[in-house]
Amino acid sequence: MSFRATVLTLYPEMFPGHLGLSLAGRAMEAGTWALEAVQIRDFAADRHRTVDDTPAGGGAGMVMRADILARAIDHASPEGDPRPRILMSPRGKPLTQERVRELAAGPGAVILCGRFEGVDQRVIDARALEEVSIGDFILSGGEPAALVLLDAVVRLLPGVMGNEVSGDEESFENGLLEHPHYTRPQEFEGRAIPEVLTSGNHAKIAAWRREQAERLTRARRPDLLGAKD
Ligand code: SAH
Repeated sequence: MSFRATVLTLYPEMFPGHLGLSLAGRAMEAGTWALEAVQIRDFAADRHRTVDDTPAGGGAGMVMRADILARAIDHASPEGDPRPRILMSPRGKPLTQERVRELAAGPGAVILCGRFEGVDQRVIDARALEEVSIGDFILSGGEPAALVLLDAVVRLLPGVMGNEVSGDEESFENGLLEHPHYTRPQEFEGRAIPEVLTSGNHAKIAAWRREQAERLTRARRPDLLGAKD
């Protein structure tokens, strides 16, 4: 069974975006996964297809209406749909490789992209939306965040990357950042490839890579150390 993504958005033309190219695009053509972008405005009730309104309590910006979003969600994901319902949101739980793996092992995802100041809290509660953030910064809309999430998931689907997915050596897979990479030429602007990598001694190479991964993680992301294992 293939992974099925449904994205609810005010900008369906932003999809599949880069996911229509390269390995993800080929996998889509092969039927490994499918993406449907649903225009939220199609569920508005007025002539102008309005989806937002001023915030209760006052303040700047506009808020996406709960009733219209609920209709869009219910249409895209009727009761019994086993797919998780995700709201891209800077207030959400930060996306991790662990959650990406879980999603890739599941039937797909229904992803709501916010715009303006965000969405009415009542639809988040009423439809039990899982809020997911892609980092501590503010985007102008959830669409790039949805593309990021789907990119991370799709590359893990069976057959998408072949043996390019290097499993436990990749950053985060073992709680460490990945070791540095080198390739030809042997010398670049006076910098040689570390000798151990050309030694042919696989045990030594593995030990060196592990050491480098630990050094990088300690220096850049000490928060990752001790988080797993
Ligand atoms: N006023 C909100 C930000 C709204 S940004 C706040 O301060 O929390 C508009 C939309 O962009 C959000 O509804 C969300 O869907 C998306 N978005 C912005 N930053 C994001 C992030 N870091 N991760 C995921 N989605 C994000």
